[in-house]
Amino acid sequence: MEIYAIETGNFKLDGGAMFGVVPKVMWQKVYPADENNLCSWAMRCLLVVDGDRKVLIDTGVGNKQSDKFFGHYYLYGDSTLEKSLGKLGFSVDDITDVLLTHLHFDHCGGSIKYNVNKELVPAFPNATFHTSKQQWDWATKPNRRESASFLKENILPLLEHKKLHLFDNEHELFPNIFVKLFNGHTDGQVIPVITVNEQAFAFTADLFPSTAHLPMPYIMSYDTRPLVTLEDRKRFFKDAMENNYILFFEHDLYNECCTLHETEKGIRAKNTFTLDEYFKRS
Ligand SMILES: [Zn+2]
Repeated sequence: MEIYAIETGNFKLDGGAMFGVVPKVMWQKVYPADENNLCSWAMRCLLVVDGDRKVLIDTGVGNKQSDKFFGHYYLYGDSTLEKSLGKLGFSVDDITDVLLTHLHFDHCGGSIKYNVNKELVPAFPNATFHTSKQQWDWATKPNRRESASFLKENILPLLEHKKLHLFDNEHELFPNIFVKLFNGHTDGQVIPVITVNEQAFAFTADLFPSTAHLPMPYIMSYDTRPLVTLEDRKRFFKDAMENNYILFFEHDLYNECCTLHETEKGIRAKNTFTLDEYFKRS
């Protein structure tokens, strides 16, 4: 089994919104902002190749929203999902399964595209789409705080095209791909843990968007229930330390992966590296 980072492009978000109650004098030491207080973020997906099965975890923001919508997020960078798959010799047709951590637009927008007739269709014609039932219910009946992040055009076509598999518990979804569920950011966020050669890799999605979010108070303002995020992060750290997880970051522009260690201030990043460096791929 092999795993690969799939870069789909970058975007910018207000640093204050990304670090919640933490003052800028503190967060700017660990994550830079530009003169407009915007920080740059990756939308980095993960491809798991296991023989004929090719599982893509999250799909980036996609390309079907209006220029006005995209203008709010300052998209930039040369990477696209198709180009990144192509560099590895794959196309969207090869993807057998798409696992969505949650249904916020920057995680699932690439799942659905317009076809030549301007109809919304799955962007991966041969794939089954998986996410948690808790997240599906949350996204299809959104609360007022999250409704701007759940775009119906990203979500409902999956149901219409009968391509959807929902699960409601933590289990091994595929051999060596275990799905864990966390609340706080949104309900039923899926955190996949993938084991390759006995090393566990956790795809941290929006539980930990970046290495800068590892300290407990560094919680995004977007989180619906920060106290729950705190408790669920503790639960994650317990598993991570006991099982020596490597963390894989979807949004950290500067760090793809890290190991963890306990310091006097709490659990922090120990070493940072890319998957290609870890697996000694050129
Ligand atoms: Zn999110």
